[in-house]
Amino acid sequence: MRIDVITLFPEFILEAAKVGVVGRAMERKLLDVQAHNPREDAEGVHRKVDDRPFGGGPGMVMMVEPIRRCIQRIRALADPAPVIYLSPQGPRLTQNKVEQLAKTPRFILLCGRYEGIDERLFERDIDEELSIGDYVLSGGELAAAVVIDAVGRLQEGALGDAESAAQDSFGNGLLDCPHYTRPPVDGYGDAVPDVLMSGNHREIAKWRLKQSLGRTWLRRPDLLQSRVLTPAEQKLLDE
Ligand code: SAM
Repeated sequence: MRIDVITLFPEFILEAAKVGVVGRAMERKLLDVQAHNPREDAEGVHRKVDDRPFGGGPGMVMMVEPIRRCIQRIRALADPAPVIYLSPQGPRLTQNKVEQLAKTPRFILLCGRYEGIDERLFERDIDEELSIGDYVLSGGELAAAVVIDAVGRLQEGALGDAESAAQDSFGNGLLDCPHYTRPPVDGYGDAVPDVLMSGNHREIAKWRLKQSLGRTWLRRPDLLQSRVLTPAEQKLLDE
């Protein structure tokens, strides 16, 4: 899949896309992240991309034309792709949305700066908005990096173990279970639960499911409202 990012700081996006799971997905050509600076689409010697707001007030606004031309330039490169504007005013990003985006072959992320972008872009150029939470960042780049990471790790072959994404929090509608690794007893004498050392895979699966259900009930009871046990989970719990 391909993600094009419109940003005044392309180096931020390209550096972020080099590390970890996303970096590996890029190397394996499972994911292609490109960054485009709308300054290249601005006019005049100063290649101005922002201006003072009509009506007065603090801050600057990103201008309509450089962004519009940048979108058109990217869309001319290949198939038309939806434009998603990262914005604190958009619907909040969820794992369901991430899974939907992960199946989209191509989309464009637009990062705002300053007070945001000229409102006229919403009428003709932007397909949807996405927020990464109820707080205000100084720019959309961190939000774009969040989307790229969450979507990139779901590309087939990106994670070492394909099962791992399904077992992660939200992957099956529950929070993940606790994890332990060596040593079996730590320096304070705290031990790993016996069942995990038992080698009994059914019992381990049952313990993990119970832990997931318990944690979800304690921390995110809202997730359980629309979650029913699958027949396989019910059978495991009945054993
Ligand atoms: N004046 C805008 C408002 O109050 O809605 C905030 C502008 S913010 C300082 C600059 C840019 O950061 C925005 O245009 C947006 O691209 C990005 N941004 C800020 N908070 C965000 C969030 N929670 N999720 C996604 N993007 C965000």
